[in-house]
Amino acid sequence: MNRAAIIGAGPSGFYAADQLLRAGFEVDLLDALPTPFGLVRAGVAPDHPKIKSVTRVYARTAAHESFRFFGGVTLGADISREELLERYHAVVYALGTATDNRLGIPGEDRPGSHAATEFVAWYNGHPHFAHQTFDLDCERAVVIGNGNVALDVARMLVLDPGELAPTDTADHALEAFGAAGVAEVVLLGRRGPAEAAFTNPELLELGELARADVIVDPAQLEGVPEPPDAIKRRNVEILRDYSRRSPAGRSHRLELRFLRSPLEILGEGDRGRVTGVRVGINRLVAGEDGGVRAEPTGEQEVIECGLVLRSIGYRGLPLAGIPFDERRGLIRNRGGRVESDSGTCRGEYVVGWIKRGPSGVIGTNKKDASDTVARIREDLEAGALRSPDPELSSPEAVGAWLIERVPELVTWEGWQAIDAHETALGEPAGRPRVKLVRIEALIEASRGAGARR
Ligand SMILES: Cc1cc2nc3c(=O)[nH]c(=O)nc-3n(C[C@H](O)[C@H](O)[C@H](O)COP(=O)(O)OP(=O)(O)OC[C@H]3O[C@@H](n4cnc5c(N)ncnc54)[C@H](O)[C@@H]3O)c2cc1C
Repeated sequence: MNRAAIIGAGPSGFYAADQLLRAGFEVDLLDALPTPFGLVRAGVAPDHPKIKSVTRVYARTAAHESFRFFGGVTLGADISREELLERYHAVVYALGTATDNRLGIPGEDRPGSHAATEFVAWYNGHPHFAHQTFDLDCERAVVIGNGNVALDVARMLVLDPGELAPTDTADHALEAFGAAGVAEVVLLGRRGPAEAAFTNPELLELGELARADVIVDPAQLEGVPEPPDAIKRRNVEILRDYSRRSPAGRSHRLELRFLRSPLEILGEGDRGRVTGVRVGINRLVAGEDGGVRAEPTGEQEVIECGLVLRSIGYRGLPLAGIPFDERRGLIRNRGGRVESDSGTCRGEYVVGWIKRGPSGVIGTNKKDASDTVARIREDLEAGALRSPDPELSSPEAVGAWLIERVPELVTWEGWQAIDAHETALGEPAGRPRVKLVRIEALIEASRGAGARR
């Protein structure tokens, strides 16, 4: 029987698992966290429960008799690439892109200036971020970026506590949002309304917030040409509609401001808290690739605020020995086959965001994984997979090796116990679940103990 290891139990890992199982492989799916589902659990906004229900599809994959889950095992810390290559016919990296792009401007590391990655992970109860604190006791927040993640964090800041209460937002974040002083969020985009990377439903949602008016200065829509792309065209229509609205006098405001590049995060001294953002005003000029690019006009403005969240793209982290494209922040690959300077790396593959970059919706990872699995099947037929050491590679030997490395690892049954426990905690309040946010509590719950939060 051919055996595959997939490292990373997010959407791309699960889609790859499903297709490898269909191709007759035995699959071990490993994740650094005790819990599966990657960004579906720790990224997707808690007020979007329907999107999170995709995990039911993944649970069906996990029910296959040739599937095993090992949670709590970190590649690069608990186990190495070489050890995996000795034990499997194929190794698939599905690691996602865990870190954020930096702005590279003065003041970026002041207290009160954060990566959206951290904020998202915090309100979603990711155990590595649950201890962080975000001071929400300020009037205005600035969110930098014009993608859906920027929209998510901006929306989370102005949602009514009543809208958040029935969600699986981590308890510590529910408390902080409930006590927050933020009454206005300004979302900044480097280019214009026609270039924003929002998708239509997410942009439309802003217009339906219970306690926030959405504000777009009509001058920003003047002379904007109709984009050829249908999604962007609709975005411009939605923004035009917002620009014609008069504020309904709601308690909160969410403003979209375009053609703005942050130049400096302001504050007292070198290390004082954020007090504002100095922003350069841009105009659009024709770019070399046929598109448009932002060019500074020389004009500037200062937006006073106490919180800055930057959301200008995610990138992967390099892992020892795995060829990495530093510029793009991805594992080097050709169509899903990992590639080094000396050619294709036998039996090593990549799927999802760490293969193609942080773009596309959850479903995009399905096609992406099937492209990579097609390469694995070709290599299987050509006899070009790995030939693991039979003594090390049996399911029993691999299981014993992993338990020896991580005695507290969490199996699929362990995750089901966590899931049952979290769901039961949420039930009395009509919430889908109450997330456990400490690793020890998750491990305790995986063993069937009624862990405390
Ligand atoms: C804030 C946010 C909101 C989003 N909202 C939506 C939405 O509403 N709708 C939608 O369709 N898409 C949404 N997306 C996009 C969607 O989440 C991604 O397309 C998808 O999660 C990418 O899947 P992936 O498997 O490549 O990576 P991930 O989901 O990031 O999974 C990677 C997994 O690898 C694990 N891992 C990483 N390093 C290691 C290691 N060294 N050892 C072991 N395990 C490791 C991680 O713990 C994680 O579980 C959102 C993305 C973000 C960031």
